[in-house]
Amino acid sequence: MSLLDIGEVEDHERFRAELGSIRPDGRRKWIYARKPRGKFTNWRTILSWFLLAFLMLAPFVKVGGHQFLLLNIIKREFVLFGMPFWPNDFYLVALLFLTGVITIVVFTATLGRIWCGWLCPQTIFLEMVFRKIEWLIEGGPKEQAQRHAGPWNWDRTWRSTLKIVVFAAISFLIANVFLSYIISSDELLQYVRNGPLAHIELFGGLVFFTFVFFMVFYRFREQACLIACPYGRFMSALVDENTVSITYDYKRGEDRAKWTKADNDAKKTATVGSTTFSRPESKGDCVDCHQCVTVCPTGIDIRNGIQLECVSCTACIDACDEVMDKVGLEKGLIRYSSQEAIETGRTTFFTRRIKAYLAVWLVMISVVVTLFAIRHDLDVVVLRQEGTTWVIMKEEVANFYRLQIINKTGHDIPYEIHVTSPHGFVIKDLGMPSHVKPGDILKGRFIIVREKDAPQVNESKLTLQLTTNGEVFHVVTTSFIAP
Ligand code: SF4
Ligand code: SF4
Repeated sequence: MSLLDIGEVEDHERFRAELGSIRPDGRRKWIYARKPRGKFTNWRTILSWFLLAFLMLAPFVKVGGHQFLLLNIIKREFVLFGMPFWPNDFYLVALLFLTGVITIVVFTATLGRIWCGWLCPQTIFLEMVFRKIEWLIEGGPKEQAQRHAGPWNWDRTWRSTLKIVVFAAISFLIANVFLSYIISSDELLQYVRNGPLAHIELFGGLVFFTFVFFMVFYRFREQACLIACPYGRFMSALVDENTVSITYDYKRGEDRAKWTKADNDAKKTATVGSTTFSRPESKGDCVDCHQCVTVCPTGIDIRNGIQLECVSCTACIDACDEVMDKVGLEKGLIRYSSQEAIETGRTTFFTRRIKAYLAVWLVMISVVVTLFAIRHDLDVVVLRQEGTTWVIMKEEVANFYRLQIINKTGHDIPYEIHVTSPHGFVIKDLGMPSHVKPGDILKGRFIIVREKDAPQVNESKLTLQLTTNGEVFHVVTTSFIAP
């Protein structure tokens, strides 16, 4: 191996010891990503506008009187797709969350970091909102780099100030939207009407989170994906050589060499005298133009293989396809593929591991669907009043009870409660409302009186029936004690 070969190998291997966004001296290397163009970027842009609209509007859309999505962890109130969940439904929320995690595991094991590139709010906000605004205000990557390296003249000052103001305004908007998911949009709008001074603590929290969002998108940026995101860390344990991810076809691309379309045409036709020249077969299709690196928002070179820093944003696919088009070669030198497919031309999508993940996932989905199907709109609790035994009322005996009805629907529900067996027991309510309001919890007390013709025993098992408009919606048994 010549000295030149050793130098090249070392250069290619250097990525293992260095981070694309950190200089060898440990300082941050600012990434000025170039704007990608192409079909994947177009699809991602369309999807991102849809997801952004969903994120912004979901707390303000009402379904059956409920906010479409509400995640009030403080009051333990959850509404998912207009369906309210109460503290006693918490197991369903936990199961849904667990199913969501397993879904991400299945998708990561099969399709790599597809979540990061296409769906993650961090990527969407950074690449589709903040970076586009930055390009508008500060120009392309070259202009940005030159301006940042230059003096603080008027041009740099006004552009930087405008960027800070716009970034801060959008961060404030994002903080408000996230708050509306937690305290509800109605409460948020009420607070806005009351003014910040009326809720100074909450406003302080809002300013704090605005600052956090601002710093994430203004300074921290791709570092959130590289060093802070836990998903980015554990995904490496889920992928293997059969996982489909954004992959450089090194078999086709190597040995990389700088050459142009003229070289490509020459390969087919150029003849000088009696000699026909062609590109050596040993040279691959990668023209070493570095366009896949200049568009990468995490500053890596995908040609070094699958790396933890790759957020599957597809920008390098579009950049390389554009180059392949220009030099007259087939697109797809960088594409969605697996290491196994590149190596052998075959890939096993449903490996034993994926089948096991899918089995667990299907079980979880079935459990969640079943639990949702049998979930009641009304939850009823009837309990004997704590610390009481019986009271004698003239010649009759009475016991005290507590009733709780949770109405999970969006409409008012009238109800009646009776003792169906044994005979001779009647309910006398203690001023309970006759309706349960939509999305409300009715709490009340009532007494059951044993009349003279009832069985005169020390302890009776009673069956109570709750009806609404003549239809039974709950049957419960309780005990009645007497001297
Ligand atoms: S390597 Fe390609 S897909 Fe991965 S982050 Fe960079 S540009 Fe995006
Ligand atoms: S864009 Fe394509 S051709 Fe250019 S360096 Fe990257 S892989 Fe090679």
